[in-house]
Amino acid sequence: MICDFQVSSLQFPLTSKRSKTAITSLQLPYNNMIESLVRKNIQQLKPYSSARDEYKGKTASVFLDANENPYGSPLNRYPDPLQEELKRKIAEVKQVPAENIFLGNGSDEAIDLVFRVFCEPRIDNVVAIDPTYGMYEVCANINDVEYRKVALDEHFQIKAEQLLKACDQHTKLIFLCSPNNPTGNDICREEIVKVIEQFRGIVIVDEAYSDFSEQRPFRLDLGKYENLIVYNTFSKAYGHAAIRLGMAFASTEIIALFNKVKYPYNVNELTQQKAKELLAEGMSKICQRINLILDERTTVMQAFAQLPLCEQVYPSNANFFLAKVSDANRIYNYLVDKGIIVRNRNSVHLCGNCLRVTIGTKEENTQLLSALRVYKP
Ligand code: PMP
Repeated sequence: MICDFQVSSLQFPLTSKRSKTAITSLQLPYNNMIESLVRKNIQQLKPYSSARDEYKGKTASVFLDANENPYGSPLNRYPDPLQEELKRKIAEVKQVPAENIFLGNGSDEAIDLVFRVFCEPRIDNVVAIDPTYGMYEVCANINDVEYRKVALDEHFQIKAEQLLKACDQHTKLIFLCSPNNPTGNDICREEIVKVIEQFRGIVIVDEAYSDFSEQRPFRLDLGKYENLIVYNTFSKAYGHAAIRLGMAFASTEIIALFNKVKYPYNVNELTQQKAKELLAEGMSKICQRINLILDERTTVMQAFAQLPLCEQVYPSNANFFLAKVSDANRIYNYLVDKGIIVRNRNSVHLCGNCLRVTIGTKEENTQLLSALRVYKP
């Protein structure tokens, strides 16, 4: 596991030349590639300009510009539309310049935005590994964009050339998720690099679970690739799914496009405050909890593999694992009756008779294993 606070001591282009606090933005060589991928209506879009976009100074004390209610401070005021203070804090932790960060209402917002910015409905298409996180396909369908699936192999890996073969001149995006959901494994880094280097479109690497993996996060290599977008979230390792805060890391050109299309006040004030409080506490509690989950992952996976109902436990680099069992539907329902909910992935491609199990607390994991030990087929 590479915790975010340890990342700052690693050697990579962003920090090797710059101090930890003064991370400057990644201005990539501009060669029109990103612009040529953007939908015409988005290129031409004149974005909504909110009251707080127009006045950004700090000195004013009388705000009569946004039709807010003067009573009920502090939640009577609209939040910072670009979440600048929060981004500066995230920049330090994630070691990505604030200018290269987009914040959204969960990473699900950033997943939807990438379609709205780049994909022309009924003309463009996107390519993704299969199986993977379901929202990529849902967002493709909502945006009326063809979604092309390329099956993972029996080790849940993919070769870059297979993904590239599925592309044509209308392919705008390739979705990769590493560690992948629901399979739990890291996708081979060299293959991801090949895709980023060879595809003349946008490559999304969803790193929602990267804090549970030892693989070097791709966000640290943003400076090398103008066509890379990396997603991350407060919902998993940071333990704050309820505040709905997702991150996208990308070139300043792509971040500007996301900001142009997003809702004006997409991250509410309570979320911004809570995230700042969390980061102000420092990373040690978060890292301790990640380590607890990783220790439990080892214990639970070993115990699960010993269960008579278990046929295979697949390797995991995430806070969950996938396991093939004798009868996923029946075991799922048996657990529901006992008040224990896992994710039944039986109907997912390559995941027949598979359950996806999130690592819980020691007590929760013990309850799961105890229930499964007395299961009668
Ligand atoms: N990406 C992946 C791979 C996920 O599994 C999930 C949620 N399960 C998300 C993104 C969504 O994250 P968020 O809570 O930030 O919307």
